[in-house]
Amino acid sequence: MEAWRALLDFYGPLFFRLLEIHGAIPIREASPIVRKMLAELTANGFERLRASSRQSEREFLGDLRALLLGVALDSVTSQKSEVQRTGAFETEKVARLLDGLPLLHKEMLFFRLAGYGENSLERVMRLSPRVAEKAFERLVEEYQAVRQNEQDRCPWPAAWLAFLKQARALKTEECTPAHGIVRIQDGQVSWYDKEPVEKHVSGCLHCLEAWTGLREVGYWRRAADPLCASQIAQLLEAIPLEKPPAKKKSLFERLRS
Ligand SMILES: [Zn+2]
Repeated sequence: MEAWRALLDFYGPLFFRLLEIHGAIPIREASPIVRKMLAELTANGFERLRASSRQSEREFLGDLRALLLGVALDSVTSQKSEVQRTGAFETEKVARLLDGLPLLHKEMLFFRLAGYGENSLERVMRLSPRVAEKAFERLVEEYQAVRQNEQDRCPWPAAWLAFLKQARALKTEECTPAHGIVRIQDGQVSWYDKEPVEKHVSGCLHCLEAWTGLREVGYWRRAADPLCASQIAQLLEAIPLEKPPAKKKSLFERLRS
């Protein structure tokens, strides 16, 4: 149980931040979703947990992010009466919106669609969003709502989360494994080796989703506000661990009772 407490202490804030941005779910309403994610992760004798990648912290967090946003989709679609925007977020339409841009601009546009305001975008990317101003000019008509968005809240969470799920399902054999993406983002790969990977990521929504996801978990794992002890205790209730057997009372205690 102490390991879970530590995990929630380190990464709990990240989960709430992701739900706040992508799902437009306020922190006070997000606990049930995080609990459901923990329950799915640990169900059937920790099956999902054992299947998740543990080569690096960020890969593990990337897996948790995908699970969490999948759970959030179910919750958001059942609770919020959002105008149907599925048309705007069909994978082919998003691919057309991004088409022809350099990877960096695609990434920034992707974060904008996810609900990122300019300040957070600048911190996550460590680069002024102004470099992608030309790309943001594509955000017209049904995408207009994010142009002035400064709140870090996705204006169309149900459609966006559904799109992310579809993008994750587009995986092919050519797709880049998460550890390859992490190594590039950490600058551990030579130009010669990273060029073909970046080219693939740039043309593949599955990999672009993973790429931006790994970037954002890398940022928020350190930057999100910490949870308080009672929030953590509440989340721990979702972990199906056997309670330690009640301590046997000493002879002295038994005598007193
Ligand atoms: Zn791919």
